[in-house]
Amino acid sequence: MSAWLEIAQQIEPLEGVVLDAALIAKMEQRQFESGAPSRIRFYTPSFKTYASSEISGCGKNAWPAISITGGECKLACDHCKAKILEPMIPARTPQDLWRVVNEQIAAGAKGMLLSGGSNHRNEVEYGPYYATIRRIKDTFPAFKIALHTALVDLDTARRMQDAGTDAAMMDVIGAQDTITQVYHLKRKVDDFERALEYLVSTQLKVVPHIVLGLHYGRLLGEWNALEIIRRHQPSAVVLVVVMPFYAPAHRPFATPDAHEIGRFFLDARAALPDIPLLLGCARPPGRVKVQIDAYAVMAGLNGIAHPADGMVELATRLQREVRVTPSCCSIALGDEVLALENADAGLQIDVTKLIAHERMRRTAIGGIGVVVK
Ligand code: SF4
Repeated sequence: MSAWLEIAQQIEPLEGVVLDAALIAKMEQRQFESGAPSRIRFYTPSFKTYASSEISGCGKNAWPAISITGGECKLACDHCKAKILEPMIPARTPQDLWRVVNEQIAAGAKGMLLSGGSNHRNEVEYGPYYATIRRIKDTFPAFKIALHTALVDLDTARRMQDAGTDAAMMDVIGAQDTITQVYHLKRKVDDFERALEYLVSTQLKVVPHIVLGLHYGRLLGEWNALEIIRRHQPSAVVLVVVMPFYAPAHRPFATPDAHEIGRFFLDARAALPDIPLLLGCARPPGRVKVQIDAYAVMAGLNGIAHPADGMVELATRLQREVRVTPSCCSIALGDEVLALENADAGLQIDVTKLIAHERMRRTAIGGIGVVVK
């Protein structure tokens, strides 16, 4: 049995969780070959008790998400149906955006994620907003702007840059069937690659996302998306796992297979050894989340939002330097990406105390032990 599997077996929240022994052995081997274990950052408001006076408050206030179309989206993809936009603050005109941003800054915002629903070509129509974005950056230079770009041409990418956007985020889809069937979109995989290429050619920090299990819960174009991203070397990559709460009854999504996701993590780490690889907060809850998070720690991902219980302990026992950021949603909303400028962002906490705190919170599940696949 690999040393890492033995370590995992000693961690109480991993009791009864099925892990793939062969996959863990490969992850351990990768770590052995790549040298010293890297630092890992965890993001969650439940670390708040460990926050210093400098880092406090929930990321939601610090990083509001604003939608230029409110809750409207022409694509209504099968996994989302525009529901992702609903909790965002609407700013349907440039004047609204200026007002909302001023209000948010007065309430303590440090930056925003600017998003919106797509048109039928998977473009968010920011055209009328660039002058306002420029005005925001000129008036509040420290205020960070992460833009959910969707698909762009070169001219649009340059306008986003010239407006003063800090970070550009887009989903990269690597399978034509997924584009056609899940997104109902008449665009090509190549359009996603071109958009990424155009964004990377600007000064923007570019952070592509890959949604794992996007093809009705199956991994289909994810490896191709990884290959596309590898060709263009962005600033960071965010991986999320599909949460198909809104899937229509006639097109249900399966829960993605955690072991396959673990294998994808390992491949992504190998393909992008020098690019920060982050696990965003979207992923299914329960046992599958524990499996996914354990694989993320062992595959060497650099950051995890809202980690499952026991992950701090697992990372610590695998000799990784642990940092925590006591905020929510910070990866999705750009905090991590923009904080990349500051390699020491996050708190270096007393891990022993944090693990003791986690243990106190936990309710015992019963001594079943890690199940080896
Ligand atoms: S384009 Fe984006 S916001 Fe619109 S339905 Fe699809 S995933 Fe949701």
